[in-house]
Amino acid sequence: MRGAVIHAPGDVRFEERDDPKIIHPTDAVIRTVATCVCGSDLWPYRGLEPVDAPHPMGHEYVGIVEEVGSEVRNVRPGQFVVGSFATSDNTCANCLNGWQSSCLHREFMSTCQADYVRIPNAHGTLVATDGHPDGESMPGLLAVSDVMGTGWYAAVAAEVKPGSTAVVVGDGAVGLCGVIAAKELGAERIIAMSRHEPRRKLAVEFGATDIVTERGEEGIARVKELTDGIGADSVLECVGTAEAMRQALRSARPGGNVGFVGVPHEVAVDGQELFFSHVGLRGGPAPVRRFLPDLIDRVLTGRINPGKVFDLTLPLDQVVEGYKAMDERRAIKALLKP
Ligand SMILES: [Zn+2]
Ligand SMILES: [Zn+2]
Repeated sequence: MRGAVIHAPGDVRFEERDDPKIIHPTDAVIRTVATCVCGSDLWPYRGLEPVDAPHPMGHEYVGIVEEVGSEVRNVRPGQFVVGSFATSDNTCANCLNGWQSSCLHREFMSTCQADYVRIPNAHGTLVATDGHPDGESMPGLLAVSDVMGTGWYAAVAAEVKPGSTAVVVGDGAVGLCGVIAAKELGAERIIAMSRHEPRRKLAVEFGATDIVTERGEEGIARVKELTDGIGADSVLECVGTAEAMRQALRSARPGGNVGFVGVPHEVAVDGQELFFSHVGLRGGPAPVRRFLPDLIDRVLTGRINPGKVFDLTLPLDQVVEGYKAMDERRAIKALLKP
């Protein structure tokens, strides 16, 4: 089979790789129906994360089950399945508490931009849909496997409540999905921070009521202006830079909450500032598995359409162009079809 491998920053290749096989009885192998390039794939691509040795890429996927190990009983060959980037047994204490992305048997997926993928912990990770969903809902289901699940978690972690005010920092796919989540969870006012026209439009379509184009001190001041001078109830930080975290912390009101889901890169939180801010902080890799059944249902019933974040669709063998388009911000997110 073929798949994407990163060799060095800026050097992703689509090349021949070994067919995945069942290694553990808890594994499944799926045939990829759709996968994509993630904003977080751009960190190593841009050289902001080291690439010590060539390794496969991709952690978002929907597919058809090809083969299952002897201990996998909830999915069977032929079924259409959605998973997430962190695998989980869904039986350990952390999973039962709803923190599947801290599963004691967790493995992070990183081989999904490929024709076939081995899924560890398949029993607890994969959720099968009724029948095979049509092509229209496919992008939405793919979004659920990471960006929509992560945006949802950001809103939950920021404790978005009906009638509340939410700020979304970051206009990438996760931030845009965070707007959807904030709306679904009942936020009355959703302030999206974005300066890119197509992304602003999508944010408004997804439910943003206000757009802030300013950044840094000006961005913080603008949010304060829009929130009676005190800041927002909930802030979703969906970038992972020091600037975005500062923006998030200073946009929340005393007693407000920040959900941070951008993988932090050189982010440091000042203890004194946090102490006196009265702001609650919760972040981390989203326990997407907790939300999968609900989010799959919302997509299949047409209640939400996070698939709109994919503004570029390419055949899988053009994955390199997908990286380029996202790196150059010509695309929000590239969907890849084997
Ligand atoms: Zn991702
Ligand atoms: Zn577990």
